[in-house]
Amino acid sequence: MAVVYLGLGANTGDCLAQLRQACLLLKRHPAISLQAVSSLYHTAPAGFRDQPWFLNAVARLHTSLKPEALLSVTQAIERRLGRVPTRRWGPRPIDLDLLLYGAQQVQRPFLTIPHPRLRERPFVLVPLLELDPALRLPSGESLRDVLRACPGGVSLRAPAARFPLWTRKTPMSHEAHRRQAPSSVRCAVITVSDTRTPQTDTSGQFIQQALQAAGHQVRAYTIVKDEPEEIRRLLQQYLDTEELDAVLLSGGTGLAPRDTTYEVVQACLEKELPGFGELFRYLSYAEIGAAAMLSRATAGVARGKVIVAMPGSTAAVRLAMEKLVVPELAHMSHLARG
Ligand code: ADP
Ligand code: MG
Repeated sequence: MAVVYLGLGANTGDCLAQLRQACLLLKRHPAISLQAVSSLYHTAPAGFRDQPWFLNAVARLHTSLKPEALLSVTQAIERRLGRVPTRRWGPRPIDLDLLLYGAQQVQRPFLTIPHPRLRERPFVLVPLLELDPALRLPSGESLRDVLRACPGGVSLRAPAARFPLWTRKTPMSHEAHRRQAPSSVRCAVITVSDTRTPQTDTSGQFIQQALQAAGHQVRAYTIVKDEPEEIRRLLQQYLDTEELDAVLLSGGTGLAPRDTTYEVVQACLEKELPGFGELFRYLSYAEIGAAAMLSRATAGVARGKVIVAMPGSTAAVRLAMEKLVVPELAHMSHLARG
């Protein structure tokens, strides 16, 4: 379980409502427990001056999500609240930044933690210190010292609001605890393929790694041939297993005569989730064009378990896992279990 600090900002639309909504969506995520949110701060725009002032705050949360998975969640919330790709540091209805993730340092092309511009931004340093006056960077530096050394000094109109953006109800009931507890989804992974072996099954390996990186458990992994009877038997066996919450399949969703995963899964589903296939093909279209429609990727629910059927290619599996499955699996499983 990691203690994470998120920076929240907005400067177009109803900023306060958008920040509130962002907190609500974070709070609702089954793998996130929102602990505290700072006061709101009015901040002069950094970078481009010809834009409205920002409303900023910092949230502290506990999560079982790994940094990359958490970034997918915050980016999904940004998109949901109307953020569209625009110039860097330009106006935006919502901006969620991963400021600190425990004492971890992350250096990836798309993710740097501590946030690369944390040192220059009083509008994150001040609310961070409000939440935790003794906070330190992974390097051991005290945040107070960082703020003192901040170029340009502190120029916040702060706090903008006396009322908190979000308050924790205390004491919390057991029920609320259970709902907020980060959940780890117990998964079975099935690769449907006539040719792959555990050594060559890069898609199956990717699914397992992505699940584990997001804090989920891989309880079973099987490669099965493109034989509908075998796929059906295995799927039924997993649906009969009480200690499983989700079954993730890859392969056999195409148009070739031996592609039958779609038919088998379709026949099992009690509730189909057409949005999964729609969004998958929409995202895939941006990568491979019209050939995206040749995949019959699908998802849904049967006997309280989530079933996801993805195409077999590793690129497709990566897209489906990173953009759709990892961000929503815990949520879907929570709803499916009832
Ligand atoms: P800023 O966060 O400086 O206002 P943007 O929000 O426009 O800038 O930048 C978004 C990009 O920054 C995303 O593509 C994301 O992958 C990348 N990024 C790198 N590190 C982080 C981080 N710690 N938190 C959020 N986004 C990050
Ligand atoms: Mg950002």
